Amino acid sequence: MKMINQQLIKDTNMKQLYSSIYSNPGISRAALAKRNQLSKTTVSTLVDELIERKFVVDGGTGESESTGRKPNCLYVRTNSYYVVVLNWVENTICACLIDIAGTSVYQEVYELQPGENYVSCSISRLYQSVLNHCDPVQVLGICVVVSAMIDAAHNEVYSTTLSLPFMGEENIIDKLQTAFPEYPVAFLEDTACYAYAEKVYANIREKNFAFLNFSRGIGATLFIEGNMTGKASGSVTQFGHYSVDSNGPLCVCGNHGCLEVLISEPALKGRIREFGTIPSLAGKEKISFADLGRATTFRDPVALAMNRQLAWELAQALGNLVCVVNTSLIILGGNIPPLGNYFLNQVRQNLKKVGFRKMVDAVTVRYSILPSDSFLNGAMKYFFDIHYCFTDNDPSAFFIG
Ligand SMILES: [Zn+2]
Repeated sequence: MKMINQQLIKDTNMKQLYSSIYSNPGISRAALAKRNQLSKTTVSTLVDELIERKFVVDGGTGESESTGRKPNCLYVRTNSYYVVVLNWVENTICACLIDIAGTSVYQEVYELQPGENYVSCSISRLYQSVLNHCDPVQVLGICVVVSAMIDAAHNEVYSTTLSLPFMGEENIIDKLQTAFPEYPVAFLEDTACYAYAEKVYANIREKNFAFLNFSRGIGATLFIEGNMTGKASGSVTQFGHYSVDSNGPLCVCGNHGCLEVLISEPALKGRIREFGTIPSLAGKEKISFADLGRATTFRDPVALAMNRQLAWELAQALGNLVCVVNTSLIILGGNIPPLGNYFLNQVRQNLKKVGFRKMVDAVTVRYSILPSDSFLNGAMKYFFDIHYCFTDNDPSAFFIG
């Protein structure tokens, strides 16, 4: 028992040190000790191990403010360790090899052929392609990312955007668990990965914040007191199925007027006719948030009216969200940022009219500032920060969320 505790403490300290070096390139051992409240001896021993194991590199002496001995500068080592991220979307697998220092070094998109399934194709993409781009022992683990609710309690995956029958695999969780025997595997939900990326790479300081992912569906991840509620499995909230109109259109979930059926990207095309026609978008097979954003930029009156209605619908849901959890920051991410500022300002104004005034007045609503594929890096970072263990990287480990 004592040994296990010692290993846990060592793992926690090594993670803290790696994270400090990652966030403060060039930091010295003395500064690391001070920042992490660890003794200089502990820091020195653990940094030596991080260097020995090629996680960190000693860049030699740097500048010193005093006339004393100049301290050595530490950096995280690049091209040394990787996490493989496999994103399953409709009939497609996007496979990425991401350096734990943050760089995506290889990416491919594979379209499933009729009769193929996600698990067997993920195995073939990994061994036939992705692992050709690094030494396989440099891979710390594999993340499989889906837009779905991964229900660990019932061993099931629910998705309204990923066509499950096509997957042809009833026990997808069981199959994933044994698919990659050489590596630890984490099965993650995409919105949680987006939210984690936002927290880490956009350096969010707010302890209570919500991240909303607008892509094929609408998902949300909440951080309360600095921690993600639940794990990254998408099983804590179903914000996309929050109804703002009980007489609204029927949603695939069986309810009426869910956000997903009203303001998700696939819903846009069908809603234009409520407001008229937008000549610049006529004849387009699909309408994206970016398409609607362009029409809005040029002040198309129908696009403006549509923006106002969508913003009102979202604001109602956000007002209620803020009443349940007093989030001080709400980030709209995924594909919605290109919709633009007119929509965002409408949401902000409408939010003031709904919800508990004292709370909604203190809420900041903004778009994500990260790229729309930031969830891939978010998955890598989540795996490394939450599941990777410096003292026991068990290849048979399987994590849901
Ligand atoms: Zn629904």
